Amino acid sequence: ESQLNPNYSFENFLEGDSNRLARSAGLAVAAKPGGTSFNPLLIFGGVGLGKTHLAHAIGVDIKDKYPEKTVLYISAEKFTQQYIDAVKKNNRNDFIHFYQIIDVLIIDDVQFLSGKTGTQDVFFHIFNHLHQNGKQVVLTSDKAPVDMQDIEQRLLSRFKWGLSAELQNPDFETRVSILKNKLYRDGVEMPEDIIEYVAKNIKTNVRELEGAIISLIAQSSFNKKEITIDLARIIVEKFVKNTKREVSIDYIQKVVSDYFQMDIDTLQSKTRKRHIVQARQLAMFFAKKFTKASLASIGSQIGKRDHATVLHACKTVDNLSSTDKQFRKYVEDITKKLSV
Ligand code: ADP
Ligand code: MG
Repeated sequence: ESQLNPNYSFENFLEGDSNRLARSAGLAVAAKPGGTSFNPLLIFGGVGLGKTHLAHAIGVDIKDKYPEKTVLYISAEKFTQQYIDAVKKNNRNDFIHFYQIIDVLIIDDVQFLSGKTGTQDVFFHIFNHLHQNGKQVVLTSDKAPVDMQDIEQRLLSRFKWGLSAELQNPDFETRVSILKNKLYRDGVEMPEDIIEYVAKNIKTNVRELEGAIISLIAQSSFNKKEITIDLARIIVEKFVKNTKREVSIDYIQKVVSDYFQMDIDTLQSKTRKRHIVQARQLAMFFAKKFTKASLASIGSQIGKRDHATVLHACKTVDNLSSTDKQFRKYVEDITKKLSV
């Protein structure tokens, strides 16, 4: 089973400046899988910008043109899980063999492999085999290869063999056409000024853009209300508010070190001075809480510590905040600063 979603087609993937390169590279790959220099094709970009959609579209189109080819779409998370299960059951070789006979392998969200050396290792071997045999590999990631943390160098260099294409935030016109296409497919009519209002106010995530329109339609039909600008305003506001701003580990280190009036170098230093150690532990704790980074990746970014140190830091902060009133105030203050 290929796990492909036929709704995620090229036809439904609206083109704009923000995605033109990635989309046309995807089309080229689908026309000649394994037969272009885009191997691997790596599509990267932020949350909700269409990576998964485009990855499926490539697979769906290949299946359409070359029904005899085996095409497999899988998330890196599921791939990892399968691998762990295979190792447990002593089926590592079967696992590798299964993946080596695929014609088109599409792995979504490869950033998930960061820090997982066993899975990276097996993927490296599968990748080499497929590539040598002219099979197509398509990858997606939330970061460009240069920014990937805790992925082995030999794998990163493979990622760079083909083409890395970025999905950027869609511009206003593209956002409007995505919304119109969605409404058209759902058979819903909506006044132009309302579509434009939504497109103007939700800028950085197509999933939210669609979510706002869906909830607008639902609200109006549920309450039997006309879709008005006022209703649109209320819904858009909710969406914009609920969108947690992405906090980076750098930003967390800056907020924490500012709070304790020290510089980031001090926070990262090897010193055992208690207040500095605590600041560093807080930075690690918040990095764990507010980002999706692995313990290993947090450690390497906050003063080159290992994952056990980060784990220990998180536990220490948990303990101290339940026993030490002053410390609890630190946690609350910094949480507030990171949440604005
Ligand atoms: P990602 O994997 O990058 O987080 P997804 O592929 O899940 O994002 O896309 C989120 C939603 O936005 C999906 O419903 C997808 O169909 C839609 N979408 C993203 N980009 C486009 C586009 N260019 N045209 C139409 N729909 C899009
Ligand atoms: Mg995705």
